[in-house]
Amino acid sequence: MGRVIAIANQKGGVGKTTTAVNLSACLAHLGKKTLLIDIDPQGNTTSGIGIDKGDVDQCVYNVLVEDKKPKDVVISTSVDGLFLLPSTIQLAGAEIELVPTISREVRLKRAIEQVKDQYDYILIDCPPSLGLLTINSLTASNSVLIPVQCEYYALEGLSQLLNTVRLVQKHLNNELEIEGVLLTMLDARTNLGIQVIEEVKKYFREKVFQTIIPRNVRLGEAPSHGKPIITYDPKSRGADVYIDLAKEVINHG
Ligand code: ADP
Ligand code: MG
Repeated sequence: MGRVIAIANQKGGVGKTTTAVNLSACLAHLGKKTLLIDIDPQGNTTSGIGIDKGDVDQCVYNVLVEDKKPKDVVISTSVDGLFLLPSTIQLAGAEIELVPTISREVRLKRAIEQVKDQYDYILIDCPPSLGLLTINSLTASNSVLIPVQCEYYALEGLSQLLNTVRLVQKHLNNELEIEGVLLTMLDARTNLGIQVIEEVKKYFREKVFQTIIPRNVRLGEAPSHGKPIITYDPKSRGADVYIDLAKEVINHG
C-alpha cells in the first residue's frame, strides 16, 4: 500500500511545488515507484516535471468532478518510476463545482484508493489555500508535509493550517499525521535564517526534518527546463538535499 503525503501550506511561494517535484523524483530515483498528484489549478508541478499543459486532455479535474478513473488519466514522466496525475486550469472551477456534490471532501481519497496498491509513495502538491482541494488532499493522505520558508514571519499562518489539520483529523480522516515540517530556501549567510530555524524547532520539536533546503540557484532554474533537480543537475547541492530528504521520508517507514 502506497503512503500518501500531502504537501500543504496555504502560503504561496514557500516551496511546496519545488518539494513535490524534487522529493517525488528522488523517491523514484531511490527505487520507489511514485505517483505525483498536481491538485493546484496553476499546474506548476505539471509543467515543472516537463509536461506541456496544452497536451493534457484529461486531468485531476476529470477525476474529481466527473469520476474518471485515475488509471486512465495518469501519465508517465521522463523520470523512471515517476508518474503524474496532471492539473490544468480547468481545475480552477472544481473548488466551486464540488460544493453541491455528494461526499465532496472524499473524492480524491476514493480516487486514490483505486491506485494506492500500485505505488510506494503518492505525493500531492496542494494549492495555496485551505479550500476544498486542500481538504480533499488532507482527507486522502496518511500524512502532511509542511514546507516553511526561512524568512521573517515564517510561523505566520501556520496555526490556521494546523487548525485545518485538526478539523480534518476530527471529522474526515482520524489517521492523518504530520509527516514533518520542512525548512526551505535557507540563506545561510544571514542570521535571520538561523533564528527562524530555532523558532520553528522550538515550536515543532522532533517534527522538523533534519534536512534543511538551502536557497540554490539550480533549484530555481530547473522548472523552466521541465526537469527535476536530479536530472537537471545531479551534482548540485539542491540534488543532494532532496535525496537526503527522500531518505528521511523513507526512514519514517
Ligand atoms: P509554492 O509551490 O509553495 O508556491 P514554489 O515551490 O513554487 O512554492 O517556490 C516559489 C519560487 O521559489 C519558485 O520560483 C521556485 O523555483 C523558487 N524556489 C523554491 N525553492 C527554492 C530553493 N530552495 N532555492 C531557490 N529557489 C527556490
Ligand atoms: Mg505551488
